[in-house]
Amino acid sequence: MNNIFANWRPGKLDRHGVTKAQIRAAVEQAQLHNFPFVSVSLSILFTLYALIQAFILRENHTAVMVAIAAISAVVIYGLRRQVLQKRIRPTQANHIYGLATSLVLLSMMLRLFFTGNPRQSANLAFFLVGIGVLLFSTRWFLTLTAVTLIGWLVGALIFPPGEEWIFYGVVILAAAATGGIAQIVLTLTYRKSEILRIENARLYQQTRQFNRQLEEKVQERTHELREAYARLERLDKTKTDFITIASHELRTPLTILNVHNQILLQDEGIRQNSDYWKRVRSIQDGAARIEAIVESMLDVAKIDSQALMLTPTPLSLSPLIHMVGQQFRNTLAERNLTLKIDSLRHLPEIEADAEALQKVFYHLIINAIKYTPDGGQIVISSQAHDSPPTVEIVVTDSGIGIAPEVQSLIFEKFYQTGEVMLHSSGKTKFKGGGSGLGLAIVKGIVEAHNGRIWVESDGCSEETCPGSAFHLVLPVNR
Ligand code: ADP
Repeated sequence: MNNIFANWRPGKLDRHGVTKAQIRAAVEQAQLHNFPFVSVSLSILFTLYALIQAFILRENHTAVMVAIAAISAVVIYGLRRQVLQKRIRPTQANHIYGLATSLVLLSMMLRLFFTGNPRQSANLAFFLVGIGVLLFSTRWFLTLTAVTLIGWLVGALIFPPGEEWIFYGVVILAAAATGGIAQIVLTLTYRKSEILRIENARLYQQTRQFNRQLEEKVQERTHELREAYARLERLDKTKTDFITIASHELRTPLTILNVHNQILLQDEGIRQNSDYWKRVRSIQDGAARIEAIVESMLDVAKIDSQALMLTPTPLSLSPLIHMVGQQFRNTLAERNLTLKIDSLRHLPEIEADAEALQKVFYHLIINAIKYTPDGGQIVISSQAHDSPPTVEIVVTDSGIGIAPEVQSLIFEKFYQTGEVMLHSSGKTKFKGGGSGLGLAIVKGIVEAHNGRIWVESDGCSEETCPGSAFHLVLPVNR
C-alpha cells in the first residue's frame, strides 16, 4: 500500500488538501492499529498450511511443516510485540513479514523442485491469496507473486509438462489475481478513508483555530467594551461631580442675592417707584429660576450618587396633585390652557415621599405646559390595579408629542429634543427653555419608589399636535 501511495501523483492528492507524507503517516497509524489482526491471521495461515500439508494432503515431513509454522508464529508474535512497544516501526515489521513469507515460499518451491509435484504450486497459490489480503505492502505482494510464478515456470520447464502443471498454473494465476484485487480494494478503501480522516482532522484543526481566533477577538472586543464602559462611567462621574460642585457653589451667591433682594423689596422708596419695583421683581424672578435649576441639579446629583433620601408616609395622591396643579393656575390662564384633573378619590393611599412626588408632578405638568401650544388641554387621569397593588397616573397633553425614537432617551439627564438654542426663554412659555433635567429627576424618584414611568406618543409634530401621555405606576406599599 505504501508503494501505491508513493506512486500517486501529488497533484491528485493535493486536490484533497492531503500530502503524501500525511497519507504515509496515516497508513502507518492504520497498520499499527491493524497489527494484532494481521499477526494473528498470518500465524493462523502458517499453522493451517502446516496442518493441511500434514493431514489432508498427507505430505511427508510433517514435523518440518509444523516446525516452520511454529517458528513463523513465534517470529510474527515477536514482531508484533516489537511494534507495539514501538521498538520498530510498522513499515519495518511489514517488510520483515514480507521477507519471512518469501522464505516460506522459497522453502515450498524447493519442495516443488525436489518432488517434481506440481500440486506444491497450489500451495503457493494458497499463500498468495492470504498474503495478498493480509500484507499491507504492494511491493511485497508483487515480489511474492513473481517468485511463485517464476518457481512454477521453472518447475514446468524442468519437469515434463502435463495437464496437472497447466491446471496448477491457472490456479496460481487465479490466486494471484484474487490477492491482487484484495490488495487494490484494501488500498483504495484505506486511501479513501484515510483521506477523509485527514481531511476531517484538518477541518477540525481549522475549526479549532477559527474558534480560537474568534474567542480571542471576542475577548479583545469585550476588553475594549469594558474599557469604553469604564471611560463612560468616569465621564458620567465627572459630570455628576461637576453638577454637585456647581450647584453648591451657586447656592451661596444665590442666597446673598435673595437676602439683598428681599431688603430691596421691603424698601419703601423702591415700592413707591414703579420702575424700580419692576426691576427688583424681575431680579427676584431670575433668582427664583436659578434656584429652581440649582435645586434640579442637586436632585440629579443625589439620584446619580444614590443619595436620594426618601421619607415615605401614607399619602393620598389627590390633594397632592391638586396642590401642584394650583401652582400653575396663573400660567394656565395666561396661556389659555386647561388642566383637567379627573377624580382621584378612588385611589388607595400609597406609601411615598410627599415632597419627592410633588417634584414628579411638578415636572410632568410643567413639561405638559411647555410643550402644548396655547389653547391646549392637559388631563390627569388615574387607575388602581390589584395585582400587584399599584396606582397608575397618566398625564396627557394635546401638545407637540414625542418621536418614538427618542421616547426612552428623554429620561436621560440633559437630553432635550429639538434645537435647544431656539427654545423660548420663559420657563412656562410654549417650548420654553429648560435644563433637560426634569424627566431624569422624575425617573430617579419614581424608580426610588420601585415604580415605573414611560411615555406614549404617536410622534412629534407642531402642526398636528399628536400629544403625549406620561404613565406613572407606583406601588401602593414600597
Ligand atoms: P426640559 O427641561 O428640556 O423640559 P426634561 O427632562 O423635562 O427637560 O424633558 C426632556 C425633553 O423631553 C424635553 O426637551 C422635550 O423635548 C421632551 N418632553 C418632555 N415632556 C414633553 C411633553 N409633555 N411633550 C413633548 N415633549 C416633551
